[in-house]
Amino acid sequence: MRNPHAGRPIEPDVTDQEIAAALEDLSVPALLMACVHLVEGDAQRRAILDGPLRPQGLFLNEYQGYMSPEDQAAARAFALDVIRAWRERGCPEPEPLPPGLLHEMMTWLACDSVGEEYVPMMLEELALDGADSRAPEPMAGAAAYPVVIIGCGMSGLLAAIRLQQAGFPFVVVEKNPGPGGTWFENRYPGARVDVGSHFYSYSFEPADHWTEFFSRQPELLSYFERVADEHGIREHVRFGTEATAATYDDESRTWTVTLADGSDLTARAVVCAVGQLNRPFVPDVPGDFAGPAFHTARWPDDVDLTGKDVVMVGAGATGFQVAPAIADSVRSLTVLQRTAQWMFPNPGYHDAVGPGVGWAIRHLPFYGRWFRFLTLWPGCDAGLAAAKVDPDWSPQQQSVSEVNDMVRVMFTEWITSQVDEDPELVAKVVPPYPPTAKRTLQDNGSWLRTLTRDNVELVRKGVSRLEPDAVVDEDGVRHPADVLVWATGFRANDFLVPMTVTGRGGVDLREHWGARPRAHLGVTVPGFPSFFMLYGPATNLASGGSIILASECEVSYVLACLRMLVDAGGDTIEPTGAAYDDYYERTQAEVKTMVWSSPYIGHGYYQDEAGEVHGLNPWRLVDYWAWTRDPDPADFEVA
Ligand SMILES: Cc1cc2nc3c(=O)[nH]c(=O)nc-3n(C[C@H](O)[C@H](O)[C@H](O)COP(=O)(O)OP(=O)(O)OC[C@H]3O[C@@H](n4cnc5c(N)ncnc54)[C@H](O)[C@@H]3O)c2cc1C
Repeated sequence: MRNPHAGRPIEPDVTDQEIAAALEDLSVPALLMACVHLVEGDAQRRAILDGPLRPQGLFLNEYQGYMSPEDQAAARAFALDVIRAWRERGCPEPEPLPPGLLHEMMTWLACDSVGEEYVPMMLEELALDGADSRAPEPMAGAAAYPVVIIGCGMSGLLAAIRLQQAGFPFVVVEKNPGPGGTWFENRYPGARVDVGSHFYSYSFEPADHWTEFFSRQPELLSYFERVADEHGIREHVRFGTEATAATYDDESRTWTVTLADGSDLTARAVVCAVGQLNRPFVPDVPGDFAGPAFHTARWPDDVDLTGKDVVMVGAGATGFQVAPAIADSVRSLTVLQRTAQWMFPNPGYHDAVGPGVGWAIRHLPFYGRWFRFLTLWPGCDAGLAAAKVDPDWSPQQQSVSEVNDMVRVMFTEWITSQVDEDPELVAKVVPPYPPTAKRTLQDNGSWLRTLTRDNVELVRKGVSRLEPDAVVDEDGVRHPADVLVWATGFRANDFLVPMTVTGRGGVDLREHWGARPRAHLGVTVPGFPSFFMLYGPATNLASGGSIILASECEVSYVLACLRMLVDAGGDTIEPTGAAYDDYYERTQAEVKTMVWSSPYIGHGYYQDEAGEVHGLNPWRLVDYWAWTRDPDPADFEVA
C-alpha cells in the first residue's frame, strides 16, 4: 500500500500552469524538503541541502523562512522542474530516506541544531514512513478489561481510538450531544485555535481541508466529528450522559461510574478526559442584571447584538477573540479587563489557506509533514527558555531573564507601534508583568484596532456590582448594558469538578489532593487503581506546543500501563507512592523556576489563589514524550 503521506499521483488533466499556481500558496522551505524526497540520487539531494536557496531563520508562524522574494521565486521554479520530472516518471512513491538525512533536513528547516534526542520523537510525530507508530498492537487478553471513558473531547476521542485499536471493550460517556468538547462548546464569535491547524490535529489524522491557518470553531468541530466517524467511535458514545461519580470497589477491584440519571456502568479501568477548560467560571457578583447575560462558552445561538450596548467582563484568550468579532455590529462595547495581556505578533493569524496547500498535502510527497514540522518546531520547546527565571536578573517585575527581556522588548514594540499616538492607551495595554507569564495571545493587530474604535472602551477595572441595565466597575462607574458577556474563563484549577472520584478505602480524590492536584506524569494517582486522567494536573502547555501532542503522549502512557496490566494478567495498576511523590516534587521545583510562578502577574488562571501553579507542564516536550512513551515498570504496582 502506498505511504499515505507520499501523495496521490497528480491527475493527467492538471497542467504545469496549475501546478505553478499551487506552488505560490506554499511554504518554500517545506516545498524544498518535499523536493529532497522527489529527486533521484544523493547528488541531487545534496544540491538542495547544500545549495544557496535556503531559509535564513525560523520563527513561529513565519512559513517562508525569511527567504527573499527572488529566492522564493527561484525555489518555486526549481521545484516545478523537479515535480515535472517526477510526474514524467509516473509519480512513483519516493524511496525512504535514511534517518541521518531526515535529521539533517530537520536542522536545515529549523536553521538551527535539532538535538539528537528530538529525532525519534519527530520521526514518530511526522510518520514519514507512513506508519502510525503510536497505534497500539492488539493486546491478547484486552477483552477482559472493559473501560469507561468520561468525556468525548479531543482527548477522550483519542483514547477511544487507541483502546479500540488495542482491543479493549469501552464505552464513552459525554454530557454534550456531540463530540469535540472545547470546540463543541466554545461557539462565540471569533473562536479559533491559536496553535497552527496543521499542527493542532492528530499526528495520525492530518488534514488537507483547513481553510485558515488558525481555524475557526466550526472547522475544528467538523474535524473532530469526522475523526469520530472515520474511526467508528460514535456508536460507542453515550451522548447527553454526564458522569457524576466514579467509585472504586476494593473487593471486586472494579470501578462504578455513576451517571446523572442514577444508572451505573462498571469497568476495570476509567479514562477521565473531562478537560481542564470545560467548566465555565463566572464570578459571584452582587446584584441582578435584567438583560441577556451569558458565559462565552454558553453563547446563545439566537442572540443578536446588533445595535446593542454590550459589556464584556474579562479579556483573556477568549475576550481577545470576541471583541474584534462583535465590535462592528454592536452600538457600544465596554471591555472590563483587570490586567493587560501580552501578545505574540502573528500578522497571518486570520489568513486564509490558499487552495494550493490542500493540493500539495494531497499530491506532493511529504509536503504536509514538513509543513507540520515548520508549525511545530518553533513552538515545541524553544519557548521554555524565555519562561525560565534567572534569579540574578532584575527587575523581576518587568522580565525574568535576558531572553525574557528581549521578548518583552519585541512584544512592547509590537504594541506601541500600533498605538503610540495614544499615550493613554499605551499605558493601559502594555502589561506591567513579565512576558509569557500568562497565556500569550496571538495577535494580528485586530485587538488594538478594535480598542481604538469610537464605540469601544477598555476599562482597566474589575466588576463590583450588577444593576438591571448596567455593570458597575470597582471605581463605582456605571457602564450601561443591554447584554452582559462573561469572558471570565474556566475553573481550570478545580480538576474534575463537579465529579466525585473515590478510590481505595473510600478516599475522595479532591480531598486527597487538597489544594494541590497532582498525578504521576499528569495521569495516575496511587490509591486510585487503573484510573487515568487526560489533560490532568501539570499537563497544560504554556510556552507553545499543542495540547493534542500532549494528549497523544498521555494516551501512549495509558496504553503502556494497560499493556503492563494485561501482560501480567493483573486486576489493577497504579503508580507507586514514591514515583508519584518524586514526580510531583520535581515538577513543582521546576515550575517554581518558571515565569508562570512570578508574584507580579496580578490575575491569571495559571496560578491558584495561593499563587501556586498546578496545571502546567514545565518539562521539555521531548522529555515528556520519552517518559510517557516508555513508563518505567518499576514505577508501578500491578495487583
Ligand atoms: C476557547 C479555547 C481555545 C483553546 N485553544 C487552544 C489552542 O489554540 N491550542 C491548544 O493546544 N489548546 C487550546 N485549548 C485547550 C483545549 O481545551 C484543548 O486543546 C483540547 O480541546 C482539550 O481536549 P480535552 O478532550 O482534553 O478536553 P475538552 O475539550 O474540554 O473535552 C472534555 C469533554 O468532557 C466532557 N465532560 C466533562 N465532564 C463530564 C462528565 N462529568 N461527564 C461526561 N462528560 C463530561 C465535556 O463535555 C467535554 O466534551 C483551548 C481551549 C479553549 C476553551
